[in-house]
Amino acid sequence: MKIYKAAIIGLGPSGLAVNKILYGDSSKEVIAFENQDINKRDNYFGFWLTEWMKPFENIIEKKWYQWTIGNKNINIIHTSSDKPYCVISFKKWKNFCLETKNKLEIKNKKVAKYFPIKNYFKVIADDNTEYYAEKIYDSRSTKEKKGELLQHFYGINITVPDNTFNENELTLMHFTGEKNLLHFMYILPFTHNKALVESTVFSKDVFNNSWYREKIYKYLNQKNIIEFKETSAEKGIIPMFMAAEKNSSSPNVLNIGIRGGACKPSTGYAFSFLIKQIQLLKYSKKNSVIIHKFLDRKMDKIFINFLKNNNEDGESFIKLASNLNGNEFQSFMMGDSNLLTKFKIIKSMPKLPFIKELFK
Ligand SMILES: Cc1cc2nc3c(=O)[nH]c(=O)nc-3n(C[C@H](O)[C@H](O)[C@H](O)COP(=O)(O)OP(=O)(O)OC[C@H]3O[C@@H](n4cnc5c(N)ncnc54)[C@H](O)[C@@H]3O)c2cc1C
Repeated sequence: MKIYKAAIIGLGPSGLAVNKILYGDSSKEVIAFENQDINKRDNYFGFWLTEWMKPFENIIEKKWYQWTIGNKNINIIHTSSDKPYCVISFKKWKNFCLETKNKLEIKNKKVAKYFPIKNYFKVIADDNTEYYAEKIYDSRSTKEKKGELLQHFYGINITVPDNTFNENELTLMHFTGEKNLLHFMYILPFTHNKALVESTVFSKDVFNNSWYREKIYKYLNQKNIIEFKETSAEKGIIPMFMAAEKNSSSPNVLNIGIRGGACKPSTGYAFSFLIKQIQLLKYSKKNSVIIHKFLDRKMDKIFINFLKNNNEDGESFIKLASNLNGNEFQSFMMGDSNLLTKFKIIKSMPKLPFIKELFK
């Protein structure tokens, strides 16, 4: 009977990070279970370049030192000379994390359950095969919950005639002013003629692909982008609620990624946080680490409740962006803001609804 050093459940970004960051330099034998074909997965993960992301600069697809937040009436431009907005593609992250010294065995199987026996775990796949490992890294997560807000989106990668896009400026949020719905466009111009154009909604229900496509076509039309060739599409759902599972009582069962609380629910940013989580786990004796600070978590909760209970059309985000400079804004998004910035954020928010949410 073979006992692996670790079993990774799910080879999304967090499972992959475990292989690279925790076992990559060792000669340990690790087993990973993934029930989807991850070779078919590709999408871009955006983040601001924090200190903990600097070791991965080589695989960054593109950096933007300028980004905008606005609507049809106003456009706030933020710049940061040392903390640019960056993207890494899932494909690059996967290849980087699989290039290691350790021996990783990947099983294209769904894990049905696992439980402890003696000082290791028995993992049972849904075809009833059994495997054994000393530690479990579990990344299975619940992405949807009745009555809770979700960030859901659909984007297309397009090629357009030369010099259509300003490749130095990213559109982070362009609110389109839908009735009773928070919707914005997110544009990543990789070059002057290539971009990801994404339609994003914060709401409790997810829509058909055709809904987002209609918004994308409308936006492109407004920008006079009539001629374009679609090369690929990406879609996703990110929970805007605390999707973390309770910590296991066993020190050798570690919840990772969204399951481990890496997602910042008010923004949907999770990628750089899940990497931070794995980096912190490397030096921790515990089976969980604190990724988001208490005050950030509290502010997030208040903001989400505000979004849930008010018909927000993007004005609060625009006001927030207009009261902060680029560095302050990125520090808030990356959970690294100081007290002065936090004060500016609170000051930007609509007072009465926020006070109400605070006391709920
Ligand atoms: C299209 C898309 C774009 C995103 N863009 C950004 C972004 O720009 N910036 C950002 O910060 N975040 C972004 N996110 C959010 C977040 O970074 C991702 O959701 C990320 O994939 C979370 O990683 P994870 O490892 O926690 O979970 P997942 O990526 O969900 O990985 C879990 C894996 O486990 C597998 N699995 C589930 N159950 C089992 C089982 N029983 N047995 C075996 N395997 C199983 C799943 O197939 C999956 O591959 C995006 C998400 C999506 C979907």
